[in-house]
Amino acid sequence: MGHIRIRGATKRFGAVTAVDGVTLDIADGEFLVLLGPSGCGKSTLLRAFAGLAPLTAGQLELDGRDITHTPPRERDLAMVFQSYALYPHLSVERNIGFPLRARRESRKDVQRKVGEVAASLELSELLQRRPRELSGGQRQRVALGRALVRDPGAFLLDEPLSNLDAKLRASTRYELVELHRRLGTTFVYVTHDQVEAMTMATRIAILNQGRLEQVGTPAEVYDEPASAFVAGFLGSPPMNLFPATVVSRGGELVAVAPGLEVPLGHRGELTDTEVVLGIRPEHLRPHGPRPALHGVVQLLENLGGEEIAHLTVGSARLCLRGPRPLGLEPGDEVGLATEPAHVHVFHHTTGRRLR
Ligand code: ATP
Repeated sequence: MGHIRIRGATKRFGAVTAVDGVTLDIADGEFLVLLGPSGCGKSTLLRAFAGLAPLTAGQLELDGRDITHTPPRERDLAMVFQSYALYPHLSVERNIGFPLRARRESRKDVQRKVGEVAASLELSELLQRRPRELSGGQRQRVALGRALVRDPGAFLLDEPLSNLDAKLRASTRYELVELHRRLGTTFVYVTHDQVEAMTMATRIAILNQGRLEQVGTPAEVYDEPASAFVAGFLGSPPMNLFPATVVSRGGELVAVAPGLEVPLGHRGELTDTEVVLGIRPEHLRPHGPRPALHGVVQLLENLGGEEIAHLTVGSARLCLRGPRPLGLEPGDEVGLATEPAHVHVFHHTTGRRLR
């Protein structure tokens, strides 16, 4: 079990509204990632669910049980913190077994369960060490072990990989996904790292200034962002966004701005004339037929297999990404083609997706 319901969750710290009316259902067994920039309220929402920061308003449920006012210990949740929060004076064995001893389980049960969890996390050889005698990755596994041993209804993880180096982060991502698959327990995972979100989540919930912008599978939020905020947050480099005016040309809608005339295909519902256009860097092709944009190459970045070109189009800047070599040089004047299906249109003030 591990079905989570969050209803109108709001958390204020004095004048700051950290979480603002968030309503979210998380199905049993999901790997839900709370994603957003620093300060968007994701840690506060997770901590509120754990019972570490009581809500100002709203309701929290776990498996149909209202836990809004339940003390943290009685919520049947296990939290893993960015700092790992290990007890420095206790061995790995005693750190992992701590929640079980706090529950007064028998010495034999504690030993058996700690042994099983340590084996599954490849910590069996390290049980007698203190946290300071471990690497960052090993500490992170001990923190996970301490959560796992409790066999909770759901796991709450707050940026658990952010203290690891890039290589270890990538391999630990894979291990976490495997662990989730093996356990089948609900994971709620906070990060500001879109790569972690895209690679691990079954669904991503994107927060902006305490509000939920969009919830969907990684493919949904990437391919059909509900707002310019989501579009500009996901992707590396993120989606190119620029203001344009929509005009009708021979029954077809075209978005125009200095240096661009982008066909939008047939979108009858588009009544706004001032819009924000969005095109992903990988959806722009240099030297393609019927170029819709005309720009000047400013800079090229070599990523090994791929290359990123930074261009100016009128007064706007944009990026394109493609297999290396793109065949471009700084100073080149170049036409860029795209497909109407790859052009996103957003409201010019609210940023909401149009069409
Ligand atoms: P980060 O990725 O930087 O950890 P976050 O998205 O997790 O950011 P929160 O830590 O949830 O953001 O903070 C949301 C907002 O609430 C921020 O403006 C923060 O300054 C504020 N805030 C958080 N905790 C407190 C507190 N105890 N007292 C006052 N303000 C707080």
